[in-house]
Amino acid sequence: MRYRINRRTGDKISEIGMGTAYIVEAEHNDAVSVIRRMYEGGVNYFDLAAGDGKAFPLFGEALRDVRKNVLYQIHFGADYSAGTYGWSLEPDTVKRSVAWQLEQLRTDYIDYGFIHCQDEASDWETYRKNGVYDYLMWMKEQGVVRHVGLSSHTPAVIQTIMDDAPVDMLMFSVNPAYDYGQGEYANGSVDERAAVYRRCETEGVGISVMKPFSGGQLLDAAVSPFGKALTPYQCIRYALDKPGVLTVLPGAKTTEEAERLLAYCDQPEEALDYSVIGTFAPPAAAGKCVYCNHCKPCPVGLEIGLINKYYDLAKAGDKMAAEHYRGLDKTAADCIACGHCDGRCPFGVNQSGRMQEIAGYFG
Ligand code: SF4
Ligand code: SF4
Repeated sequence: MRYRINRRTGDKISEIGMGTAYIVEAEHNDAVSVIRRMYEGGVNYFDLAAGDGKAFPLFGEALRDVRKNVLYQIHFGADYSAGTYGWSLEPDTVKRSVAWQLEQLRTDYIDYGFIHCQDEASDWETYRKNGVYDYLMWMKEQGVVRHVGLSSHTPAVIQTIMDDAPVDMLMFSVNPAYDYGQGEYANGSVDERAAVYRRCETEGVGISVMKPFSGGQLLDAAVSPFGKALTPYQCIRYALDKPGVLTVLPGAKTTEEAERLLAYCDQPEEALDYSVIGTFAPPAAAGKCVYCNHCKPCPVGLEIGLINKYYDLAKAGDKMAAEHYRGLDKTAADCIACGHCDGRCPFGVNQSGRMQEIAGYFG
């Protein structure tokens, strides 16, 4: 397993995390074994925005003795009083639900307490007006909540809340379909979504990724908006390449599925190459580098994806990214304009021209 650091909290977070999707479909003991296998495979980050309340005791049983080694995302606004998931902005309901979730998880603290599911501007107004946000902050003052998170599918709402509230982690729906305007949660334009990634990276806010496979659609050519299936590994790598992303949160219900997810870190580069999505890119995405590195190798050894990522972040105000760029052994100034990358890029990026632009920017 590989790990990434949340710069705001210092937490070391596994690139593969785990969500609750599908786990309640397994028999009780099997479900506990699957969760435990993910933990033993190095997963230390678990999202608990469950579709069914039955998920909570499973995680409680599987991870109780290793609680200090794992990190939980708990959502202030998810209600399980009816058994399955419900959304609530009523403070008393939220309080009861959080207490119930802690009891079921057999823990007394929350690593990341989330401002839950804010997709409309009015959600945030109601969340604050009703006192749910104050309750979350009070729980943080009491030491029950260690860090604050935000979950949303909507870039504009994310920007507003990040202006208003100190957020340490964002849970956002990241996959090629949503980024390219396809699917139920394809909120925001290509550029608005990219701005969220860059802002998070710049401000040190980690992103945990929900819906990395667009609810499974991207894995099945028959229902994929692109008419072609991607593999889970391609989707995971795609999300992990986005600035700010720390972890991807797929679900699993069998140990075989768990093993397949854990094998992500052992995959050769060819298995992770998602450049095929360049053939689906809408006009708004054409010519924009997605940092996929499909154009490598560069004859002078430039890390093309990384150079482009640092450049985009530096332009968005990320001083650390600018420093990282200047610390590279080889920079855009070393480009010999051979054009190899231009011919290889499936996204239509004029990379040799961009290297000139980048070299000029950094001087
Ligand atoms: S130039 Fe194209 S192939 Fe190279 S990293 Fe950027 S998007 Fe990928
Ligand atoms: S054009 Fe520049 S960046 Fe692209 S492959 Fe050639 S030397 Fe490398």
